[in-house]
Amino acid sequence: MQDQLDIGFRIPGTPERVNCANYFISKFKEINSNFTYALHNFTIHSIDCQNVLFKLNEDNSNIVILGAHYDSRAKATKDPIIINRNNPVPGGNDGASGCAVLIELARILYSERVNLSCQIWFLFFDAEDQGKDNAYGIDEWDWCEGSQQFGLDIKNFYDSDTEDFDCMILLDMVGGENLQFINEQYSTSSLLDEIFIIGRQLGYTNQFQSNPESASIIDDHRAFVSAKIPSADLIINFWDNPGWPYHHTTEDDLSHISNTSLEITGKTVEQFIYNNYIDDPNNLYRGNYPWSQDINVPNIDVIIIVIILFTILGIAVLMHNTTKKISEKESDMPKN
Ligand SMILES: [Zn+2]
Repeated sequence: MQDQLDIGFRIPGTPERVNCANYFISKFKEINSNFTYALHNFTIHSIDCQNVLFKLNEDNSNIVILGAHYDSRAKATKDPIIINRNNPVPGGNDGASGCAVLIELARILYSERVNLSCQIWFLFFDAEDQGKDNAYGIDEWDWCEGSQQFGLDIKNFYDSDTEDFDCMILLDMVGGENLQFINEQYSTSSLLDEIFIIGRQLGYTNQFQSNPESASIIDDHRAFVSAKIPSADLIINFWDNPGWPYHHTTEDDLSHISNTSLEITGKTVEQFIYNNYIDDPNNLYRGNYPWSQDINVPNIDVIIIVIILFTILGIAVLMHNTTKKISEKESDMPKN
């Protein structure tokens, strides 16, 4: 993490953003000089952006994507000191933390690669964090531009005849003090539930609570949910969290990062991979695999309205039939 922050602010379109992408390449080359990677170039309002993808175990046809964004926010739009709001966010937790865990996971999973029955993608997104909050951001930019672009171009990065995706796990703000993940609502629930269960089994009961707060977050996993890939977002409450109040402020730096939080996140995702993909006939535990997509349960209000409408309709039909019978009877009466 220190390395990423030492590079400077990784804002889209800056040399620091390029240096950070090169830094990831050098880290993966350290693991193995032949580590396969692909660069995904795209432009947002004529600014050059780049997602960086590394692939492990390409011989396996079923792919697990582990993702994080690496851009840092251009403006600290939520800084309590108003004059700071034009300054950039260091992006310690919001950016660098997820990337740091991905690099560490790559190192560990590489050493286990021959035992794993899946292909793993380590995917670093550019241009996640430049949307508008408090009405400020880069003009015209949306959140999650990098993952949206990747979702559009995903077919260029795998062979859809021979390969398919099992799931996607996103790490966003996983390194702050007082780590407590939420039940993110766009996520595929059976996948997110399984990760929470694994976290608790490892003893991380505070971080993966049995009754966590729920919220829907616009984040990089949504492009993959839309592509029908079961996906989970590991993220915290960043909008009202006295335990970590530094979101989009100039204080999102290393001083509010906890190595324990990074380790807990990494170990939980690592265990998830082992539970599901250790190629061992004695390993019968597959959790909730294949994490089928959530079926959208209709809203309770809609159900009540439908019940009321059917009741009204039922009464109307009944009344109509009764009046019909009465009038038929009347017409049967002998006429004078
Ligand atoms: Zn952010």
